[in-house]
Amino acid sequence: MAETKLKLEGQIAIITGAGSGIGKGCAIELAKNGATVVINYPFEGAKAAAEEVAATIIASGGKASTHQCDVSKEDQVIKMFSDTIATYGTVDILINNAGLQKDAKFTEMTLDQWNTVIGINLTGQFLCAREAVKEFLRRGVDETKSRAAGKIICMSSVHEVIPWAGHANYAASKGGVMLMMKTIAQEFAPKKIRINSICPGAIATPINHDAWDTPSHLESLLKLIPEKRIGLPEDIGKAAVWLCSDDADYVNGTSLFVDGGMTLYPGFEDNG
Ligand code: NAD
Repeated sequence: MAETKLKLEGQIAIITGAGSGIGKGCAIELAKNGATVVINYPFEGAKAAAEEVAATIIASGGKASTHQCDVSKEDQVIKMFSDTIATYGTVDILINNAGLQKDAKFTEMTLDQWNTVIGINLTGQFLCAREAVKEFLRRGVDETKSRAAGKIICMSSVHEVIPWAGHANYAASKGGVMLMMKTIAQEFAPKKIRINSICPGAIATPINHDAWDTPSHLESLLKLIPEKRIGLPEDIGKAAVWLCSDDADYVNGTSLFVDGGMTLYPGFEDNG
């Protein structure tokens, strides 16, 4: 029998914020499926973790390299794309994953907390998506690799639809990601570019460790999840592989909720 080609064989993927958590999970799963992954990290202090992810992938036979870039800085994003294209020839996949929280009660939220979160979670996704789309348009479809000219996954959140008191900046950034994603998906679908979001529920990563690393906090968190388990980075990574592959060729402009049912109004589970 002929050897089956891996789903993402020969494709180049930039994954932002891939030194930890969901980005790391996506990098590992994409690499397992044949993609060459560029592990982005924001600053010198995050380099070692990113290199460890790359080393893990390479040790298991995958292809990976690292790239430092703060996604909220236009010049750095442009350089990350031009360096990647110079090294590998093109970019086929962008996982727009980098993000953070700066939580505060609304009346106490500083402009700096607001701007930092919007700058990384929303403007950072805009800057990276813009550079990716330019490259996808330049190259067009290469049928030997994929039916699409390129794929973007925006890492959104259940908080693109669930309001979240104490996190106005974060919820606004993810609501913004939703309509940016849908708007550019509409604009570039005729060029065979697929742009979708993944909306994770609660995934055990450093961003939310307070919510799951003590038993009492975990117990209250699980009340919000009908499946009664916290998600793992690989749950998101596996969804990302499918969404980037030709198996999802007719999926465009969609928010895919990977949340164990968190958006199913769990308060009504027991008759409301
Ligand atoms: P995480 O803190 O492990 O990962 C965030 C990554 O982004 C880190 O590696 C960090 O270094 C990187 N980063 C931060 N600022 C950056 C910048 N300016 N430039 C480049 N990289 C930068 O947390 P995570 O949970 O893995 O979060 C990843 C994404 O998933 C975020 O967009 C987050 O909003 C989203 N998300 C997470 C959850 C969850 O439950 N963990 C739920 C919904 C959405």
